[in-house]
Amino acid sequence: MVSIRKLHEQLVKKERSAVEITQETLDRIQAVEPDVNSFLHITADKALKQAQQVDAKIAAGEEIGMLAGIPIAIKDNMCTKGITTTCGSKILENFVPPYESTVTQKLAEAGAVLVGKTNLDEFAMGSSTENSAYKLTNNPWDVSRVPGGSSGGSAAAVAAGECTVSLGSDTGGSIRQPASFCGVIGMKPTYGLVSRYGLVAYASSLDQIGPFSRNVEDSAILLSHIAGYDPKDSTSLKVDIPDYAANFKPDLKRRGQVRIGIIKETFGEGIDSQVEKAVTKAIEQLQNLGAEIHVISCPNFRYGIASYYIIAPSEASANLARYDGVKYGLRDEEAESLISMYNRTRAHGFGQEVKRRIMIGTYTLSAGYYDAYYLKAQKFRTLIKEDFEKAFRQVDVLVCPTVPMTAFKAGEKDDPLSMYLTDLMTIPVNLAGLPGISIPCGFDDNGLPVGLQMIGRVLGEEQLFQIAYAYEQSTDWHLRTPKI
Ligand code: GLN
Repeated sequence: MVSIRKLHEQLVKKERSAVEITQETLDRIQAVEPDVNSFLHITADKALKQAQQVDAKIAAGEEIGMLAGIPIAIKDNMCTKGITTTCGSKILENFVPPYESTVTQKLAEAGAVLVGKTNLDEFAMGSSTENSAYKLTNNPWDVSRVPGGSSGGSAAAVAAGECTVSLGSDTGGSIRQPASFCGVIGMKPTYGLVSRYGLVAYASSLDQIGPFSRNVEDSAILLSHIAGYDPKDSTSLKVDIPDYAANFKPDLKRRGQVRIGIIKETFGEGIDSQVEKAVTKAIEQLQNLGAEIHVISCPNFRYGIASYYIIAPSEASANLARYDGVKYGLRDEEAESLISMYNRTRAHGFGQEVKRRIMIGTYTLSAGYYDAYYLKAQKFRTLIKEDFEKAFRQVDVLVCPTVPMTAFKAGEKDDPLSMYLTDLMTIPVNLAGLPGISIPCGFDDNGLPVGLQMIGRVLGEEQLFQIAYAYEQSTDWHLRTPKI
């Protein structure tokens, strides 16, 4: 299994060069990309240049960090200076950011090698990557199925071995849900832990950037590098960032009793029986590792989707007002007046789902309906947060399925509501600003991966990673790779 630690050791011992590793990754991309379609742009030249710099450092006897020479892919909603950043939308087709996002800046400073920008649902709105204006990404386990979304390209790229790790963004599940569908690790940090500067805004009170990887340690290493206070993001938290991977232990016994809560409401009706079975087995395994298991009720959990689909579109309708054809992005050249230029630019530039959300959000924020919708949704957000606070007085982490199902076929979910329902278990975590991780916990009869979600307290990343690591090390799910 390729891991950051293994590649790092090979580089330091001069068994392989960063250029060799990069070239191998680019060859792999060439070979599988026609089937998977993870990328919107492949940055081969830049990648090889970055790799040469790492090799020069090693040759000069300089010390290199853990991420130096590691091939990484970035969801195409994070600004990369000089590299097109489309956000999966026609409206940003020719947008070349004049600045670098904080996360990609940090990665570049750490010597990580950017191999490309990955496909996503337009403006990160969706659960299958089918809303991209450019292409469909396929699930590496079964190319007739979706990889999940909205960070489908980043999840598929890691699953198909087109990069070692990648970054996605998660507003209502967009890291954890595709991680579950693609059989990889997806981690959404505590709100405010990772800077959003340079992340194209969808719903600002929910958006967080986080890692995809094939093992828990890589996820922890990557998060340690991208997290941290940033004065350019007003919601950034002023906290010290530990090395999350420093103290991993293979069991849970030596660290005092770990208490794990099963969220009662996430089992039973509406959950695929094979998903339920795999997750139940995983919980037994956690118990074998020494955890104490409790059943916890979060009665307001089920109002998550309804609240989210008011709050997120409301924020989106405001955030997307900036795409007016004036400052950057697409501009309709045929319009005869300013107003018609706005209208035509937005009519041509945005896809159906984005338009739907702008309309919902404009409606729910409008004077006559604000109290009935937006305010009420915010009240439910508070109740959901309180459910979690109560739960965390009794347990250290909560567990549930990441998604109620495994990957579905492309084109299968053609009404928006059934698509929205895939985020049932991930959305409440964003509404409460908590960290959540999805890790592989089995396969269904079709050979499709199932994900286990673990949810931690605010800034509980260290413990969350530790528990996920102990579970992972006691299974071999993460060692299986798709045949592609
Ligand atoms: N599927 C959810 C939505 O469409 C979540 C997306 C996300 O997390 N970016 O809003």
